[in-house]
Amino acid sequence: MKLLHQNHQLHQDLVLPSYPSRSRLFCIKPIGIGTQLTESLIGFTTRLSEAHCLPSGVLMEREVAPTIAKIHGGGNLHKIYDHTAALNGTGVMALSLASALEKLSGQINLHLLTLAPWSELMPSRRLLRRNRAWCSFCYETWRITEHIIYEPLLWSLDAVKVCPLHHCLLCETCSHCHQKNLPLAWHSRPGYCSKCHDWLGLQPGNSVNNLKNCTEDELRELAWITNSVGDLLASTPSLPLSFTKEILAQAFRVHVNLASNGNVAEFARQLQLPRNTVWLWCNGKNLPQLDTLVQVCYRLDRSLIEFITQEPKQSIHVNVTNATTPLKSKPKAKARVFNMENLEQQLEAILLNHQCPPPPLAEVARQLEINEKTLFRLFAEMCRAISAKYDKFQKALYYQRIEQSREEVRQAVIKLYNEGLYPSEERVSQLVSRPGYLRYKQVRAAIEETKLEFSIQRIDSSTI
Ligand SMILES: [Zn+2]
Ligand SMILES: [Zn+2]
Repeated sequence: MKLLHQNHQLHQDLVLPSYPSRSRLFCIKPIGIGTQLTESLIGFTTRLSEAHCLPSGVLMEREVAPTIAKIHGGGNLHKIYDHTAALNGTGVMALSLASALEKLSGQINLHLLTLAPWSELMPSRRLLRRNRAWCSFCYETWRITEHIIYEPLLWSLDAVKVCPLHHCLLCETCSHCHQKNLPLAWHSRPGYCSKCHDWLGLQPGNSVNNLKNCTEDELRELAWITNSVGDLLASTPSLPLSFTKEILAQAFRVHVNLASNGNVAEFARQLQLPRNTVWLWCNGKNLPQLDTLVQVCYRLDRSLIEFITQEPKQSIHVNVTNATTPLKSKPKAKARVFNMENLEQQLEAILLNHQCPPPPLAEVARQLEINEKTLFRLFAEMCRAISAKYDKFQKALYYQRIEQSREEVRQAVIKLYNEGLYPSEERVSQLVSRPGYLRYKQVRAAIEETKLEFSIQRIDSSTI
């Protein structure tokens, strides 16, 4: 009886272990959070797709789209192709994807893979690159060392031009197919071109130094900017809760005080920026774009983090001597001076030339290295004549092809009759060299005409 009681007690003490609920997708871990090379949300999505052996587009459409808000095209890549960069950005698209992937993968804090935590400080204009960018050396190193291949968020920022580890320019063009990649495409895969599917790591024989044309000063500035932005991204997880616009305005005021005793006009003059622009920044009425902000910081020799957190410093000197890119809005390109006489002669020569086919105006403008609209503005009459010559030739070519196709159709119908087959449009289309031309009614009509001609012949021959 005592034993029975003990057993009963034991049963009562047993508690069911608690298992976390299973996630629908693999719970892969984001890479490098808290470092300069934090993974991007787009990169995470492509790794997740790869883990499930699915193209990224399929993962987005089948898994993400149903859990994401329908605004902004939801997860349907076809609808958001032009805006996929925003999935790493500061807005609702990035946050929706982050929370959808959190639900599906069971991971938390995926918003740290986007710029959303910096939304108050980073205006979205020119913030993210329109195309995917990568460092071929990083990819190759990771492949050799069997590191996971992934895409750091830093690479997607427009202000960042070089790799912080290899100090080479980030690539935007695939060295195999010479095409650019969208930030997220249907066949995106970490380390591989989404167009030709080839490996993007450095190929043997490629030169490490793709910065040959940069001066030492330019290189130093590019590397400094990359590091400064990288440090900012690294600090994302330890951000104070509210990083507001007002903090940035305050940072500007503090630095105006340090650099020029509170004189905004003097500060603006030293930075070679319009006074009104700096005044608006100091009053929180406007925000500088990230690339401008980081260049201001470079001139003040304060990292972005030091600038924003207003880390104490006795005095600040604006240093424009090292700065290679002028902060002033770029002057408009000088109007090109054309040698009008020379241009006219070349146009005349093109008009008189019996080149076959004659070139379209766009091609002429390209040959003369002049904008097509400018060319038209300068020589409207001759341009009209060049276009008319091109149109006339194209029209003649069209009629010639229609006539050829009609004759081919006629031959095909006769051949089919001779073989005892009914000359259906499908059979005819298999015998002619330009089946697409059957869409023109004149060509299609040739079938009926020949059929008629053939039956008349038969009637004629049977009456003889
Ligand atoms: Zn690299
Ligand atoms: Zn390619």
